[in-house]
Amino acid sequence: MSLARSALLWASENETLRTHVPRWGFVQRALRQFMPGEELSDALRAAAELDERGVASMVTRLGEHLTDAAQAEEVVAHYTAAYNEIAAGSVDTEISVKPTQLGLDLDFEAAVSAVETLAGLAESRGNWLWLDMEASDYVDPTIELFRRVKASYAPVGICLQAYLHRTPSDVAALVPLRPGIRLVKGAYREPRSIALTDRTEIDEAFFRLGAELLSATADGVRLGLASHDVRLVDRLGVVAGAAGVDRDAYEIQMLYGIRMADQYRYAREGYRMRTLISYGQQWYPWYVRRLAERPANLGFVVRNLFART
Ligand SMILES: Cc1cc2nc3c(=O)[nH]c(=O)nc-3n(C[C@H](O)[C@H](O)[C@H](O)COP(=O)(O)OP(=O)(O)OC[C@H]3O[C@@H](n4cnc5c(N)ncnc54)[C@H](O)[C@@H]3O)c2cc1C
Repeated sequence: MSLARSALLWASENETLRTHVPRWGFVQRALRQFMPGEELSDALRAAAELDERGVASMVTRLGEHLTDAAQAEEVVAHYTAAYNEIAAGSVDTEISVKPTQLGLDLDFEAAVSAVETLAGLAESRGNWLWLDMEASDYVDPTIELFRRVKASYAPVGICLQAYLHRTPSDVAALVPLRPGIRLVKGAYREPRSIALTDRTEIDEAFFRLGAELLSATADGVRLGLASHDVRLVDRLGVVAGAAGVDRDAYEIQMLYGIRMADQYRYAREGYRMRTLISYGQQWYPWYVRRLAERPANLGFVVRNLFART
């Protein structure tokens, strides 16, 4: 892992920086590249614009690690209103949540009940609920949470991280449930004992798992290949073509503001393209993880230091 990436991942977890950096105007301006605004209405406006260009979306309100289980009720109320608002329109946009935003690390049973409420709403509104995957300590509880909710509600997906040594066995265990699986490389700082740290090895792990999951689409898995690594996505496209998996049998998923030209191109070429749009006030750790993925983006932040407001 490069020094810059390691330092940024450290900064994403630092409490002092978390308190001060979000107040800096130049950081707020740079943030706009990745986030259309802090409100649900900002995210839905961006979703409607993408929809017009053939790109579907998922929206997620930033925030993780509640300090009080009662805060989860507010999160459920927020997403309930979001499902209702999406159902009232015609834009293809789904919802993705972080399990710790629903109190996973405070009260497991309460988190199950919160996720069940949202999954029930997703099902009744013809929508989906996606569970993000957080740092490695949360993988077991997140998978257990997913299994519990998936037993009662169909339109639920989970994110799996290719960099973890355990992921091939998680894939094998989950595929029979006919889940939604969003495959990512993995965004957190993890030790070598549990995760690959070499980028080439991570890419190959993503490729192997992606190829396996493409075959599993025929068995009812809803697959999202979530990566901006177009070379890797295209390699998997070749695998899919050779295996007779149609372009519309799986999704390519990317983040709002990253590689938008490629996102529109994939949509034009007949792939199912879905963009994850984040919004909300708790953007600091998320934004710094995005910078860590591509430290060159720091240049963008610095340019905004000198930009006019
Ligand atoms: C839809 C979606 C959902 C995700 N959900 C999760 C999750 O729940 N849990 C989790 O751990 N991780 C999640 N991630 C993040 C993921 O794990 C990676 O950290 C992230 O996608 C970067 O890896 P990459 O596959 O894009 O490839 P990389 O090898 O990092 O990047 C490939 C190329 O894409 C471009 N690129 C990548 N990132 C950026 C950036 N920030 N800014 C500008 N260009 C960039 C660069 O040109 C780079 O060379 C998600 C990613 C996506 C797209």
